[in-house]
Amino acid sequence: MNQEIERRRTFAIISHPDAGKTTLTEKLLLFGGQIQVAGAVKSNKIRKTATSDWMDIEKQRGISVTTSVMEFDYNDYKINILDTPGHQDFAEDTFRTLTAVDSAIIVVDGAKGVEAQTRKLMTVCRMRNTPVIIFINKMDREGRDPFDLLDELEQELQIKVRPLSWPINQGARFKGVYNIYEEQLDLFVPDKQKVTEKIAVDINSQELEANVGEEDAAKLREDLELIEGVYPTFDVDSYLNAEVAPVFFGSALNNFGVKELLDCFVKIAPCPRPTKAEERDVNPEEPKFSGFIFKITANIDPNHRSCIAFCKVCSGKFVRNAPYQHIRLGKTVRFSSPTQFMAQRKSTIDEAWPGDIVGLPDNGIFKIGDTLTEGELIHFRGLPSFSPEMFKYIENADPMKTKQLQKGIDQLMDEGVAQLFTNQFNGRKIVGTVGQLQFEVIQYRLEHEYGAKCRWEPIHLYKACWIESDDAAELEIFKKRKYQYMAIDHEGRDVFLADSGYVLQMAQEDFKNIRFHFTSEF
Ligand code: GDP
Repeated sequence: MNQEIERRRTFAIISHPDAGKTTLTEKLLLFGGQIQVAGAVKSNKIRKTATSDWMDIEKQRGISVTTSVMEFDYNDYKINILDTPGHQDFAEDTFRTLTAVDSAIIVVDGAKGVEAQTRKLMTVCRMRNTPVIIFINKMDREGRDPFDLLDELEQELQIKVRPLSWPINQGARFKGVYNIYEEQLDLFVPDKQKVTEKIAVDINSQELEANVGEEDAAKLREDLELIEGVYPTFDVDSYLNAEVAPVFFGSALNNFGVKELLDCFVKIAPCPRPTKAEERDVNPEEPKFSGFIFKITANIDPNHRSCIAFCKVCSGKFVRNAPYQHIRLGKTVRFSSPTQFMAQRKSTIDEAWPGDIVGLPDNGIFKIGDTLTEGELIHFRGLPSFSPEMFKYIENADPMKTKQLQKGIDQLMDEGVAQLFTNQFNGRKIVGTVGQLQFEVIQYRLEHEYGAKCRWEPIHLYKACWIESDDAAELEIFKKRKYQYMAIDHEGRDVFLADSGYVLQMAQEDFKNIRFHFTSEF
């Protein structure tokens, strides 16, 4: 069991949209032998239908909406890549995925540097002490000086960095990357589709000059000297403790620097670590199975209308058909066809180990955050929901399809697509999201998956806050006074819908014994 745990690497690749996450993912799959030609599954018309994209809506919009998993073996390692939606309107989905990984690779566009979404994602990694490796992509474009980029990473992401590979020139004259970690140089012939032949070059001999030219050879030697002078020796523990982020340079599109990244990653990245449950920390080596649901995806196969719940195995061995306890429902459940994911395919598995992601067919029994065990009453903690940024009333646009609409809304909310609040005053349903796109996705999915039609109507709200108090009487007075603005969330908890910052501030001042929370877990 320990061997199985130690060889697993479960991580997410995250980035600001367009930095090259999809391209890098594809190149990793290429090295893992999962696909033969990168871009093979990309159609010309639709810009971003990569292997990792599943849903029709993504093809239409050219963004990754869903989170998928890709597994492959590389050398002796078992790699589980958790893909995340590229678009920032689905940020919450990405945050949740980060609860299921042991480390992350952040892709940064070398010409653009740190962008807004990079900063947010790093904040979540920091909250959870997730070790991160940074891949600076697109070095084949004219970008910034690599040393300036490193400074920017340190400042903007608030983490110390340590380069472990180094670009030889950049832009049109980009020749490849020197592997600082292994102290070796392999030059690749650029190829956008395949893994090509490489030439090993000794940088301490004239071979370097012969291959990259006098000027670039001199510059590389000079840069390396400077790096050793400026940056402390790389220490794996400081990376594992999330204090230092190793940095790699390259061009995912041209396959430069990707192998250097992958080879080092498998060696230094953490294998599955203990998972925090409310009751205690659960170690992966524990013999009994436990896991939690971090993602639910509907209708991967449009011919079958069922959902798949993604379960991260936290401890023990998951076994097909074994009886497991669904903690929230207090029910015993068995899974006869759990699946694993391999690029475009998925196949039924008999067992899975800590770090693995198992796809469980779900006919509506799961919610995000649900815990499965062999019987022990523990609750894994997911990431809480944050107060949404945008709100709209959702109305039924086809009275003949009321049931379908209700079912669709319920399931989409269980999947965590958005948050639903029901106004206690007029019974109207309000959907809260992080971005406009989520409203469009909900409307699209209700129509295509549930045959229901919805209509949005405006409501002006500033924030939704979960309220609680030890003073039941005061809580009642508050709810009476604010009855028009009181709602319950999908879980039946009290939520105050404040229509302005001022109203919220006044409420907080007037009701000192009430606690206002901006995340759903407190
Ligand atoms: P994502 O949104 O982060 O998944 O980004 P993609 O992987 O889809 O890449 C966005 C765009 O950048 C695409 O047009 C890619 O072809 C391009 N791209 C990715 N990697 C590189 C690279 O190394 N160099 C250059 N010049 N373009 C790249």
